[in-house]
Amino acid sequence: MMHESGSISINTENIFPIIKKWLYSEKDIFVRELVSNSSDAISKLKKLSTIGEADLDGDDKWQIRVVVNKEEKTMQIIDNGIGMTFEEVGKYINQIAFSGAKDFLEKYKDKTDEGQIIGHFGLGFYSSFMVSDKVQIDTLSFKKDEKAVRWVSTGGMDYEMGESDRTSRGTTITLFLSEDSLEFLDSFKVREILEKYFSFLPYEVYFDSIEEPSAQAEEAEKDKEPKELKPINDTNPLWLKNPKDCTDEEYKEFYRKVFHDFNEPLFWIHLNMDYPFNLRGILYFPKLKHEFETMEGQIKLYYNQVFVADNIKEVIPEFLMLLKGVLDCPDLPLNVSRSFLQNDGYVNKISAHITKKVADKLTSIYENDRENFNKYWDDINPFVKYGCIRETKFYDRVKDIVIYKTTNGDYVSQNEYLERNKEKHENKVLYVSDERQQAQYIKLFKDNGMEAVILSTMIDNHFISFLESKQTEIKFLRIDSDLSESLKEKEENVDEAASKELQESFEKLFKDALGNDKLKLKVESLKAVGVPGMILLDEHSRRMQEMSQRFGGFDM
Ligand code: ADP
Ligand code: MG
Repeated sequence: MMHESGSISINTENIFPIIKKWLYSEKDIFVRELVSNSSDAISKLKKLSTIGEADLDGDDKWQIRVVVNKEEKTMQIIDNGIGMTFEEVGKYINQIAFSGAKDFLEKYKDKTDEGQIIGHFGLGFYSSFMVSDKVQIDTLSFKKDEKAVRWVSTGGMDYEMGESDRTSRGTTITLFLSEDSLEFLDSFKVREILEKYFSFLPYEVYFDSIEEPSAQAEEAEKDKEPKELKPINDTNPLWLKNPKDCTDEEYKEFYRKVFHDFNEPLFWIHLNMDYPFNLRGILYFPKLKHEFETMEGQIKLYYNQVFVADNIKEVIPEFLMLLKGVLDCPDLPLNVSRSFLQNDGYVNKISAHITKKVADKLTSIYENDRENFNKYWDDINPFVKYGCIRETKFYDRVKDIVIYKTTNGDYVSQNEYLERNKEKHENKVLYVSDERQQAQYIKLFKDNGMEAVILSTMIDNHFISFLESKQTEIKFLRIDSDLSESLKEKEENVDEAASKELQESFEKLFKDALGNDKLKLKVESLKAVGVPGMILLDEHSRRMQEMSQRFGGFDM
């Protein structure tokens, strides 16, 4: 066995404090990096064995173990993957891992914004020094006649290599945690981190914690059964299965488990695509808990079954974040900066694809299951409307399936509404924004055989202004703004002179009372429809006022 010692070829003295400081808020990424390396090591060996280039010698139950030892103050990551030979440690660890860290830093040292790199992917093995005074590798390659190797480095600057007592194939990384990182001995914390990143890793991950022995504990230990460990993960997540083989119950259960939402989702979309890029995932349309709630979703992004982050707006169109779901995009170039991703053609294609799938799903329910579409509408309409405002492509795809509940209790599309009311008014959509407040008007409307749509969610004000900008021939008018217009034709024998006089005296009265001489007042006689008088508000100015009032509360 050769022995070797040396110094890392890069100037670690100055990069180290930078890495440490920079990643301080995301210290736990070292767990992700090391377990990911173990997972890669297993994948490599699995591949070799599949093509007949490696003999597994019966050790074919793939697993990764994470063990914290409170007495020794260590954390170990143990796998039965491909392992490394002496030469390989020299190459992959002494050269690649360390120069990888250097590259990583070179690229990003000027980026002061912590959130620049998505989940700080790519720092790799070197991240172990973020939390350790000393790191030790014990590894045995799958190759025949190789000896186990031990590599030790204190502080990430110098290393020693020699023989190890490891007897089984694979790699153990032992981290001797530094004093300021002892929180990683806390089993709740470590378990939480493992569950966050690896709940769906393809190989079983076990977590074990060796507690500090105390007299009491030793007593208790005597009659305790040996611990039966269960993997922390589901190695075959639903999103990887063929949609044909998944049952509704499985989708619902997955939803409950991942989002801890015990309300059933309304429906879902299973994304399953290999070409021209790899994209898998499930998007759920959640049920709103109460009427005036705005949707608050969560999209979890995975990279080959390893969790990256929630709600990454550079990858996922913002309006889709109102949904709940998981996306696995193994082709994403993750170790680049966020601003790069934003401008990346590939990322744009992914978001366009997801947007299309969502629009297709909605259209298909609208066309094939209108009854349910109507039923879902109360829950999904804020999402659809927000999507239209935010994403032109989405609007173009769904504009004809936007529906409205009417004062008659029906659900109609804009075209359906205009068509069936065209005798009474053309190119006008009359609406109600508060059924209780406008009850009088609604009654009057109904008595006169008229129909208005109900637009009572927070986003509607913006949405109708948006629609008017898209289809300039259509106007939305609240029923208390246009009532007179719509009902006027019923009025006959109007005494013009008397009306004018009435108009002027009323206007003066209101101007004086409100101290506002710019006030415009319109007085109409509606006696023929059974109403003595009514206050009407100008649509445009009322809407502007409401929008500015809401602006603080509803961030568009
Ligand atoms: P990357 O994973 O991006 O290659 P790392 O710094 O994480 O970079 O790891 C460097 C190299 O060290 C890996 O490419 C691999 O060859 C080797 N390595 C690290 N961990 C293990 C492991 N658990 N088993 C086998 N090889 C490993
Ligand atoms: Mg790695």
